[in-house]
Amino acid sequence: MAAIAIIGGGLSGALTALHLIRMNSASPLSIYLVDKQARIGPGLAYSTNRSCHRLNVRAGAISIFANDPGHFVQWLATHGGSGDPGEFALRETFGRYVEEQVREYSAARGSAVLRIVSDEAIGCRLHSDGATVSLLGGERIEAQHVVLAVGNFPPSSLPMFEKLHGDSRYVPDPWAPGAMERLAACSRLLFLGTGLTMVDVSLGLEELGFSGQMTAISRHGFLPAVHTPPYEYPAFYEQLCEEPTVAHMLRTVRSHLRDARRCGIAMQSVIDSMRPYIQRLWLVLPEDERRRFLRHVRHYWDNVRHRMAPQCGRVIQQYMESRQLEIIAGSVTNAIPHDDTISVEYRKRGELRQQWAEVEGIVNCTGPAQDYSQMAYPLIADLRQQGALCCDALRLGVNALPDGRLIDSLGIPSDVLYTLGPPLRGVLWETTAVCEIREQAAALASSLLAALSKELVN
Ligand SMILES: Cc1cc2nc3c(=O)[nH]c(=O)nc-3n(C[C@H](O)[C@H](O)[C@H](O)COP(=O)(O)OP(=O)(O)OC[C@H]3O[C@@H](n4cnc5c(N)ncnc54)[C@H](O)[C@@H]3O)c2cc1C
Repeated sequence: MAAIAIIGGGLSGALTALHLIRMNSASPLSIYLVDKQARIGPGLAYSTNRSCHRLNVRAGAISIFANDPGHFVQWLATHGGSGDPGEFALRETFGRYVEEQVREYSAARGSAVLRIVSDEAIGCRLHSDGATVSLLGGERIEAQHVVLAVGNFPPSSLPMFEKLHGDSRYVPDPWAPGAMERLAACSRLLFLGTGLTMVDVSLGLEELGFSGQMTAISRHGFLPAVHTPPYEYPAFYEQLCEEPTVAHMLRTVRSHLRDARRCGIAMQSVIDSMRPYIQRLWLVLPEDERRRFLRHVRHYWDNVRHRMAPQCGRVIQQYMESRQLEIIAGSVTNAIPHDDTISVEYRKRGELRQQWAEVEGIVNCTGPAQDYSQMAYPLIADLRQQGALCCDALRLGVNALPDGRLIDSLGIPSDVLYTLGPPLRGVLWETTAVCEIREQAAALASSLLAALSKELVN
């Protein structure tokens, strides 16, 4: 029987499995969905059970089926939600929704059988008929195709926090289960990063009873923008495409932002109008222009593109007004642990003078690690060693074709290994949100089934 192994049962892996079942392959198919976590569907983003962690997208825009945009809203209405498409639902609720959909589809009788394997994939050897996936528990899975739906990795380790290695007052991964509880009683904390992870961390700490001071520091000190009421700003794709340079695109966007401001339209609406074609724009940018974007524009982009739900924005605003949260633009250069405190050395942006602050705990809020060349996870190391997995040129993810086929160290696209979601960041730039992953999962399922039927004929 044909087999597909999907490594990772977060949103990307779960939706790929769901679509494989839904598309009902012409011949019997085994789908192995491997995850070291017990729950299938929520993954890292939607496993949280905190009532302060909300989706950063309106319910009406986050159905898991691109062709049925009201699906989540309808599900919500029958699961205690308001049925309002403008609602920013809890992430935990969205996780239950995905989990329930996968469960329902996997119970359906069809040609595909889903087998959930609760284990860690530690190796993947390619051979002429596909690949053998090895699991930590000793089992091996033979499959014609393997999908690496490995998603978000814990943040990279930071050299300035080297002396805090193993110190319980330093949280290197705020998403690790129980990681934040130990800081709840502190009176002063430092967060490295001022993006959505920092927002999650500060809101979550309050739920744990934390009432101390928080300082968040990042190079530009930008906070994520808050969602504004939706408004359909007209697309300007053709104008952006006139010249594939960051300078031209930036000029064009700025001119639209000025026009929008004059008409009282929020900048968020201008950015939203670009969203459907960001991947196409990224694909036409030459590599040096992509680097230019990362160097000069990324921080502005991240700030307006990755937004807070209005409820979260209001709480952050209150923290800042009451001076419970201070945001600093600058960089941390050193951290020295003492018995009672940690001395943190930092420099404000534009200043030469180093300053010191005393804190009781530090959280790495820099977001998921992206550089696959540095990752020591056994599966990634094994694939890297074989030359089957390489970083993309910008080290934002893996080298692959836009359709998810991995490109090996010789530059040859694989017909066995595929990926989707966060690992495609370097290839597509915008590839981590539900609206992108749902489309990729459906397209990938369809190409996998097409490849299997072709192999069957041959
Ligand atoms: C905190 C957070 C909040 C977000 N909020 C939103 C939002 O509100 N709206 C939105 O559109 N997007 C949001 N996103 C973005 C997006 O939806 C997620 O990044 C997306 O869920 C990615 O899913 P994934 O399955 O690719 O990755 P993950 O959720 O990281 O899942 C990967 C899975 O792979 C498993 N795995 C990895 N390696 C192995 C291995 N070797 N063996 C077995 N299992 C393995 C892991 O255990 C994990 O369960 C958010 C992201 C984060 C991080």
